[in-house]
Amino acid sequence: YTGKTSNQLLAEKLKKMLVDGHESTPVVINENVSVYDAIVTVFSEDVGTLFVTDAKAHLVGVLSRKDLLRASIGQQKLTTIPVNIIMTRMPNITMCQKSDLLIEVAEKLIKTQIDAIPVVNKTINGFEVVGRITKTNITRVLVELAETGV
Ligand code: ADP
Repeated sequence: YTGKTSNQLLAEKLKKMLVDGHESTPVVINENVSVYDAIVTVFSEDVGTLFVTDAKAHLVGVLSRKDLLRASIGQQKLTTIPVNIIMTRMPNITMCQKSDLLIEVAEKLIKTQIDAIPVVNKTINGFEVVGRITKTNITRVLVELAETGV
């Protein structure tokens, strides 16, 4: 018996949890896709954030719902503007890896005030998108911990 309270055990368990196994499937589009098609993808795939990749499937940008709304209230023709014009681009993308601690990714979500973080696999040429962590994934972990206890 360690003498630890259940609160301490719960905190320890949470602090050891990794991203791996708690991520969702990422929705990825090519950088040359139009803003119009990106909006269609948000609805058809039912996600709030799209990750943008280049021809080599490396991460080059992120598109949020508000990025798409901002482009939509402009006077441009949405079918002719590629997403790479309006996305948040590298190197300003907050990312994580499967081996990262989930609690650190949750802290990143709060600090940067964003909804989703791509889970990436680092290669010599760039980052491959292998998953997605959103506030929903973190909420699910919280509920799981409450259900299973320590
Ligand atoms: P919304 O803009 O719909 O409220 P977010 O809060 O997630 O959604 O996004 C806010 C801004 O941050 C957007 O301009 C978006 O492109 C950018 N953003 C979203 N996710 C990331 C990320 N992982 N790394 C860097 N920037 C991001």
